[in-house]
Parts: sequence; C-alpha cells; structure tokens
Amino acid sequence: MTKNVIVLGEVRDGDLRNVSFEGIAAAKTIADGGVVTAVLLGEQVNHLAPLMIQYGADRAVIVEDSKLASYTPDGYSQAFLAVVEQEKPDVIIFGHTAIGKDLSPKIASRLGSGLISDVVAIEAVGETIVFTRPIYSGKAFEKKIISDGMIFVTIRPNNIVSFEKDTARTGDVSSISVEIKDLRTIVREVAKKAVKGVDLSEAKVIISGGRGVKSKEGFKTLQKLADVLGGAVGASRGACDADYCDYSLQIGQTGKVVTPDLYIACGISGAIQHLAGMSNSKIVVAINKDPEANIFNIADYGIVGDLFEVVPMLTEELQNL
Ligand code: FAD
Repeated sequence: MTKNVIVLGEVRDGDLRNVSFEGIAAAKTIADGGVVTAVLLGEQVNHLAPLMIQYGADRAVIVEDSKLASYTPDGYSQAFLAVVEQEKPDVIIFGHTAIGKDLSPKIASRLGSGLISDVVAIEAVGETIVFTRPIYSGKAFEKKIISDGMIFVTIRPNNIVSFEKDTARTGDVSSISVEIKDLRTIVREVAKKAVKGVDLSEAKVIISGGRGVKSKEGFKTLQKLADVLGGAVGASRGACDADYCDYSLQIGQTGKVVTPDLYIACGISGAIQHLAGMSNSKIVVAINKDPEANIFNIADYGIVGDLFEVVPMLTEELQNL
C-alpha cells in the first residue's frame, strides 16, 4: 500500500545536513510509490527546497518565520504540527540528531503516535515496514513495526544511503503560514566553539585518539592523518578527561554515536563505553601497542605498535597516493 511520508530537512549554518538526504532515501523505501514531501522550517530556507527534491523528494513544504531562525522546541513543534495537520502523512522521518531527538517525541506524544528511534535500516516486508535499531549499546539489533496510526521515525546518520543528486529533478514547492506564538524559549545569540573541518557525526572517516595519544600536541599528529583522508578527529573520554582535546570530540556511551565508513582508533583501549559509540562503524582499524587491548576484539584490522610511529607513516604513505 502506498504511503505518504514527510521528511524534516535539517538545516545547519545555512546548509542541509546529509541526514536529510538519507531521510529521503528512507522515505522512498517506505512510500512504495506514495508521495515523499520534504519539510523545511527556518527563517530563509526556500532556496534549499530544490536540493531536497534533487535528492529524491517529490515536493517540498516550507514554513518560514524569523522566530524559526534558531531551533526552539516550541517554535519548531508549532510549525511542524501545522505541516502534519495539512499533509496528514502516514510516516514522519527525522534525523537521529539533537533536533530530531528533541522534536520527534514531543510531536509524536502530542499526536498519540508511535515513535521508533535510532533506526539504522528499513525494509518493506509485504505491506509491513520493518525498522532495525541497535540495542544494548550496539551489541544487538531489534526489528520493530508499528501496526497502527501515524509512525514517527528517527534515523541514525550515515546508515541509510542517500540517492545521487539529480539536478534535472523538479517538484512543487509550497509554503504554509503559521503564527508562531507564546514561545517559552528565545535564542538571543549562538556562541559557537570554533571547530574546524568535517562534522564528526557525519564524517565518513574518523581518526580517533585515546589516552595513548598523551597530549594536545599528540592530537595534531591525528589531525594530519584526518586532513589527508578528508576525515574528522574524534576521541575517547580518557583523552577528553586528560584535557588532550575538547569534550565535543568524545565518542561513546556518554558522547557521540558515530558510524563512519572507516574508524581508526589510536591509543584507545576499547572500553565498553567507548565501543558503544563506534562499534557499528563499517571498518575499524586499531593501532595500539598492547596486543591484548580489547579494541582488537572488534577491529577489522589491527596494528600492534607505537601510534607515534604508525600514524605519521600512514599519513606519509596516503598523501603520496
Ligand atoms: P585507556 O584505557 O587508558 O587506554 C589507553 C590505550 O592506549 C591503552 O590500550 C594503551 O595500550 C594504548 N597506548 C598507550 N600508548 C600508546 C602508544 N604510544 N601507541 C599505541 N597505543 C598506546 N569512554 C569513552 O571513550 N566514551 C564514553 O562515552 C564513555 N562514557 C563513560 C560512561 C561511564 C558511566 C563510565 C563509567 C565510563 C565512560 N567512559 C567512556 C570511560 C571508559 O570506561 C574508559 O575509561 C575510557 O574509554 C578509556 O579511554 P582510553 O581508551 O583512551 O584510555
């Protein structure tokens, strides 16, 4: 049976996050020929609608308002509820991002609907849509269905493959006017930490450092390899606690959950709390001087050695390719 699916296009610093395009690919699997509608909320987001369509959406609906310039739970939920009211979708997809994790349960509970979060795969089995999500910190997966009512889904970034951009695709773009009122939160100013380079949660390659990196200076060695591979630098909590790097780089149970194509763990022992954030990476390479380190139990490739010898060697080899 065809389904109408809407996907939130998540905007950050004026650009769409990749998870928005992955959401469209997920929506296409679910829609089974039904309409996939991209939803854009913000102050000036109109120009991003064609991009959502080029990545596979059939049409786009926009709510523009200066009160939506920054994310607030109240503002976004008022705007999004107006879209749901108009579109009456069967399924609603968000990224499993800070915004998606905040907004989706708020709206789903308001509408008395079911929510399946942190989905990594979607398949249509006959009429039923089966959602796969990790449980027990990624050690097992469960398959879930919702058999009744509107379905809310958040998808984990970097798991569902987006379509190639097709610049020839066109579709209808319409706006809804919503009166955003009674905001309990107003964002006056956004003070950003200067984080240069690739966004960790969407990076395809992550070079991650642990306590074995030993210093802030040591992290510069990892950054050089990340630059050569077009990747991002991540860290264990051990490294963050030791002040070798910022907590925004922390990966794990109490940090970010990442699923890059390639994760290179340098001087990380492989504590269970760290594995919770990265063990679903497609390929894991571990560099550790202790051959008994737990990280080797989940690594696809292991290098027993001193990271200060191995990482510069890798960097040099790869930049000469
Ligand atoms: P260590 O365990 O000290 O390992 C350092 C490794 O570096 C060793 O294996 C050593 O052999 C190797 N090494 C040393 N020198 C070199 C060298 N020159 N070359 C190569 N290898 C070298 N941790 C997280 O990472 N993320 C989390 O989100 C997280 N959440 C937590 C939540 C809770 C409630 C708790 C209790 C803990 C949490 N932790 C988390 C901490 C976790 O238990 C570990 O303490 C931490 O991951 C260890 O970091 P590490 O591997 O960098 O350090």
